[in-house]
Amino acid sequence: MAQATPIIACTYAEIALKGRNRKVFLRKLINNITIALKGEPLEAVRHVESRLMVHLTDPGRALEVTRKLKNVFGLQWMSPVVSVPRDQIDDELLEDLEADREPRLTEICKVATELSAENRGTARNFKVETRRSDRSFRLKSPEVSRLVGGAVFEATGLPGKMSHPEFIVNVLVLKENVLVFTGKEPAWGGLPFGSSGRSMVLLSGGIDSPVAAWLMMRRGSRPDFVHFYSGSNIEEADVDKIKDLVKILARFASVPLKLFLVPVVSYEMRAIGNITDSYDMVMFRRFMVKTAARLAWRNSCLGLVTGDSLGQVASQTLHNLGAISSDVELPILRPLIGMDKMEITAWSKKIGAFATSILPYRDCCSIRSPKPVLTARARDLLQFSLKMDLEGAVREAVDETVMVAITSE
Ligand code: ATP
Ligand code: MG
Repeated sequence: MAQATPIIACTYAEIALKGRNRKVFLRKLINNITIALKGEPLEAVRHVESRLMVHLTDPGRALEVTRKLKNVFGLQWMSPVVSVPRDQIDDELLEDLEADREPRLTEICKVATELSAENRGTARNFKVETRRSDRSFRLKSPEVSRLVGGAVFEATGLPGKMSHPEFIVNVLVLKENVLVFTGKEPAWGGLPFGSSGRSMVLLSGGIDSPVAAWLMMRRGSRPDFVHFYSGSNIEEADVDKIKDLVKILARFASVPLKLFLVPVVSYEMRAIGNITDSYDMVMFRRFMVKTAARLAWRNSCLGLVTGDSLGQVASQTLHNLGAISSDVELPILRPLIGMDKMEITAWSKKIGAFATSILPYRDCCSIRSPKPVLTARARDLLQFSLKMDLEGAVREAVDETVMVAITSE
């Protein structure tokens, strides 16, 4: 059966552009693939002509392995392939060309026909797409497509269609082999996990911050997470939902992810009587950002990440965003800043976080004063900070922080 193949061919995304760093990125990517396929019958990952070939010892696992590879950032496309050795093809081709007759491409046509019969599903038409990575191959790509297309048509009766075909047979000519494949699966693109430095993500129980974390992970950052909870202890705060969100994100990571759980009582004790109600929300944000920055320093994270989207809620006006973190030295990255809620929600569904994000949870932000100031000034926040001893609240919060390590399953 042609479909049972022990090789999955993958293309990688932007790494191709990375110049001298390319080797480092590739090594990371191959390492991440190996980790993602732990427990699978992996024989080797080979770099062949700007592609990665994942070789398995058991073809029966090809589809499951393809599914797992989809979550490895840095990969662009992947497909189980059938590999036909070039020497078989080249000898026959030379013979045909010397005899001045139409090339047969027997093996390629045979595999293409079998794959089409197996995988066409309900498709009503098809197209053959050929690429030559090895330009020395004696036939040009359109010629190969024409010949293989003819064979598939003859065997299946499926008509060819050049624009918007419902089924595609791919032929890729490499130096040593010709790959034939049909199911080309898109992956997420991006850069290999862990290739862009560490970040500290402020994770609430909502829709936005898991998406922000995921987008940073897709750009290669390794996240640690910090969540602030109200209540006197973790059991009471019931942070299972937060752990579940990290668990979902861990599917895309090659190491266990750290979640720091921080109580907010140290803030609440000091805020009472020291802060005007309308400033409570922005001061609380300031407390979170300052505490997260402290944890980031301690854990070698080079930036903070939040799920802020400009103007979405009162604390996210440009005035407030600026004032809250006026004296934070780490960069604060906000990958969702220009996105609408609809777009963010669509991402949340795509990455598999939505169903968990909408479960009920009493976030400590939702219990803050309902009418926050919209245009806070940094110097007012600095004054409130001194008055309430925000520094003391941060120190105490860090002391009370608990860390849990989370893996995907
Ligand atoms: P989300 O859907 O992520 O909760 P949101 O639109 O509800 O976002 P806010 O609640 O205003 O926005 O929070 C803005 C950002 O502040 C969040 O995206 C997150 O990065 C951070 N944040 C809010 N609450 C917490 C919390 N309890 N612990 C850690 N970070 C938080
Ligand atoms: Mg929230």
